[in-house]
Amino acid sequence: SEDIFKRIISHAKEYGFIFQSSEIYDGLSAVYDYGQNGAELKNNIKNYWWKAMVQLNENIVGIDSAIFMHPTTWKASGHVDAFNDPLIDNKDSKKRYRADVLIEDYCAKIEAKIDKEVEKAAKRFGDAFDKAQFVTTNQRVVEYREKIDSILSRMAKSLETENLGDVKALIEELEIADPLTGSKNWTEVRQFNLMFGTKLGATADTAMDLYLRPETAQGIFVNFLNVQKTGRMKIPFGIAQIGKAFRNEIVARQFIFRMREFEQMEMQFFVQPGSELEWYEKWKETRLSWHKALGLGEENYRFHDHEKLAHYANAAADIEFKFPFGFKELEGIHSRTDFDLSSHEKHSSKKLQYFDNELNQHYVPFVVETSVGLDRLFLAIFSNSLKDEKLEDGSERTVLSLPPALAPIKAAILPLVKKDGLPEFAEKIFNDLRLDFNVMYEEKDSIGKRYRRMDAIGTPFCITVDHDSLNDNSVTLRYRDTMKQERIPVEKLSEIIDKEVNM
Ligand code: ATP
Repeated sequence: SEDIFKRIISHAKEYGFIFQSSEIYDGLSAVYDYGQNGAELKNNIKNYWWKAMVQLNENIVGIDSAIFMHPTTWKASGHVDAFNDPLIDNKDSKKRYRADVLIEDYCAKIEAKIDKEVEKAAKRFGDAFDKAQFVTTNQRVVEYREKIDSILSRMAKSLETENLGDVKALIEELEIADPLTGSKNWTEVRQFNLMFGTKLGATADTAMDLYLRPETAQGIFVNFLNVQKTGRMKIPFGIAQIGKAFRNEIVARQFIFRMREFEQMEMQFFVQPGSELEWYEKWKETRLSWHKALGLGEENYRFHDHEKLAHYANAAADIEFKFPFGFKELEGIHSRTDFDLSSHEKHSSKKLQYFDNELNQHYVPFVVETSVGLDRLFLAIFSNSLKDEKLEDGSERTVLSLPPALAPIKAAILPLVKKDGLPEFAEKIFNDLRLDFNVMYEEKDSIGKRYRRMDAIGTPFCITVDHDSLNDNSVTLRYRDTMKQERIPVEKLSEIIDKEVNM
């Protein structure tokens, strides 16, 4: 799977989707730039989310709040005091790690041993092998499992009680070594705040310490009454937003899965106190269905319900996606109670209450939030779509089978040769279609090469103009996924493309 992941990263670079930030200066770790095709794909994902959340829900509106916020915001939200990860340094290698990740990686190695045992047994028993039974009855496997459970639960307890000494003791007891150098010479574990600080103002004595927002949600909470009043919103209603967030992540790996600058697509849904768990269940299902509708395979999603809850939540779950490196969080759905609004009331001394006409009563609404990482969703879609196919004639092709609605380029218009009036005919089609779709005109290279290039960036349609086109006003339409080719009258093109790319 590591090879598959490397392949995904190199394809993203080679075809203009994602570049390392500041590459000419050897890059910046966990920061990435989207190239010409990546920006289109990312925009299409944003629009697809915005349409589903804002446009199609009459009780959800969208805003765009600033990245800079008054510093008290982060005191009220709990980020100044509690947005920490446990950090540990290796004294010899001088490398820095997240203590919990070191422990989780250790457990993953034991998991790998379980997998090996299962594989061996499967070979030994052949058809008669019952994996579920083997895992629950084989002594060694059962012991491995118990060990993992006990390590992880000890870690969770120590982190919960902020007993960082116990986390360090666990690392020593397990004899976990620096992955790079093998050294076991560790420092103490300490808490590390993930917010980036900066300054606002020109002179040293008037400058104000600010943070780059680590989540977009707080911009919605502080605007709750502004939007409710000016939009005459009635509870239950939601406020949505797409925007950048910044976290000084300690482990920077897994490409755009964990970035220091990333984008979130969040929606905070304001409800009557007491109805929040009902809405929480409803939004869990709604969001899962939304993901499944993308067509990446229903088996690639699962819920992970949280047992350990954040300080602001009374229920929380992740929608996990099967990335090339396993099932991992894609979206979080949290029942945040009235924690944020009440806390902003306290810190600002401004009332953030809603008058409910039906109940004839003022209250601070409860909040159910859905929060998905745009870049993570990009990675899910991109990695799931990239396929190396063996064709019937023995040749191979790489195809990015993106959902057509999200593809950067919807159709490529290709004159078979660069002469005899074919380019002019093709350009006319191009100029007609570009008003409605992001299309591309391409005349360089052989037609086979051009098809392959379009497959690799996920273009659902290729439109080829040949000599016959000049007489019958028809073209060859090639479908990306099936590679099927069809003769189509030029005036039909727009309708066919439209049907496929508007979901
Ligand atoms: P994780 O446990 O993976 O660090 P989180 O639980 O801290 O994530 P939330 O605070 O719930 O994440 O943020 C909501 C969503 O924002 C996540 O589901 C994820 O898709 C995205 N996200 C969070 N941190 C990052 C990051 N560093 N890079 C990219 N996306 C991120």
